Amino acid sequence: MENTSNTYSSTTTGNRSILPADMISVQKARNLILEKFTQLESVSIPIIEAINQVTTEDLIAQFDIPPHANTGMDGYAVRAEDTEDASYSQPKKLSVIGYLPAGKIFNGTVMSGQAVRIMTGAPIPNGANAIVPFEETDEYREEISANDTEKTEVLIDVEAMTGANIRPAGEDIKKGTIVFRKGTILGPAQIAVLASLGLNSISVHRRPIVAVLSTGDELLSPGESYIDGKIYDSNSFGLAAQIKNFGGIPKILNIAKDNVESLTHLIREGVENADFLITSAGVSRGDFDLVKTVLAEEGQVGFWTVKMKPGKPLAFGIFTKKSGAQVPHLGLPGNPVSAMLTFELFGRPAIFKMLGKINAWPRPLVSAISKDKIINTDGRRFYARVVIDETNEVPTIRLTGKQSSGILTSMSKATAFAICPADTSTIEVNQSCEVILIDRENNYYGESIDTLTNEY
Ligand code: AMP
Ligand code: MG
Repeated sequence: MENTSNTYSSTTTGNRSILPADMISVQKARNLILEKFTQLESVSIPIIEAINQVTTEDLIAQFDIPPHANTGMDGYAVRAEDTEDASYSQPKKLSVIGYLPAGKIFNGTVMSGQAVRIMTGAPIPNGANAIVPFEETDEYREEISANDTEKTEVLIDVEAMTGANIRPAGEDIKKGTIVFRKGTILGPAQIAVLASLGLNSISVHRRPIVAVLSTGDELLSPGESYIDGKIYDSNSFGLAAQIKNFGGIPKILNIAKDNVESLTHLIREGVENADFLITSAGVSRGDFDLVKTVLAEEGQVGFWTVKMKPGKPLAFGIFTKKSGAQVPHLGLPGNPVSAMLTFELFGRPAIFKMLGKINAWPRPLVSAISKDKIINTDGRRFYARVVIDETNEVPTIRLTGKQSSGILTSMSKATAFAICPADTSTIEVNQSCEVILIDRENNYYGESIDTLTNEY
């Protein structure tokens, strides 16, 4: 068969047909890509670096949290029975036998008629069974400062219930219980819980290193002086920022020239130093032969035509490191918006799979009313760049500007992609459509997600 942009080729050694020949759907392309990824190995890292990563072991509490029963208020630790019938007009007088800041243990025992002046978080002294806040004592009336430890007597204005303002030991976490199951995604609150358990490191799936290679003789690096006829390389940076955002570690390679040597050299460099290689440009017809030659010589590769807009041409294949390890390669279209959209739809799930949270990749998907007419001419699924307004019960969307695949500013204003199905030629004004909220994540912290929802 002729090699056209929707056929596949493979190395002479391997004939694994991982790739279909015809125009394929976004879902089909994604499934074929994801088959080639696995979650990365477990590493132990400092807890603060584990934000958005996934635990690889059940986490069992080694002690109670809080470790001691302690006071939830500044006040007086008393025996509740000593405060019976206390009122503002007929307060109960107790003698103050000690002062207890947080972090200290009171060595004595509170006997009948006694109280210990106590600060929030301090362990409850033996003998005491209730805390009377300052506001319910004569301290409130006298406005004695919290540092005043000279007080020898206190008047209690309110009857205290047994257990009042006491936070029991193990109220939050009981020793021996599973705090987080293996597969939990760590957000800020989960990291705080780890710290409360005294942990400074945690085992999670490693973050993938993703090499980013831009190709094209026309490209200059940002910071270089402008040369007539050239354009600056925006893809490396947009893609690297997405990689970071999705939880990977980007490695931007030098720009490859449109020749076999340059491309081969840089692809090899990327493969040897990364878990995943992203290239942009050179997969549309103009550059097809060159890239095909290089990719096919170096690894298994296929060229697809995906039924989407922007971003029709896509290459996907597998390279092998000198060590024998396999490195998937995603060859994105060169046009900047196509590159970012295809990376959102295919690269993001791949990174999420490597991180061990494949089911968490979909963004929130909502229905919205379009306030602009959206036209879809050529029978592919169109992802329109829109901004969403959620102030009313039914959200509305507007196009952010010109929709051709080189217009980055309409991408930079977009908070969502409106999906215009392949068989829909027009979304009329006030017609409803599905919208992917690309400025946010589904809320998945603290749980492992078993089922995929919102696939788009
Ligand atoms: P190609 O796939 O090489 O035909 O490129 C398609 C379009 O994308 C051309 O207009 C290129 O100049 C542009 N392009 C390719 N790579 C980049 C890049 N890294 N940054 C910005 N534009 C690019
Ligand atoms: Mg090119």
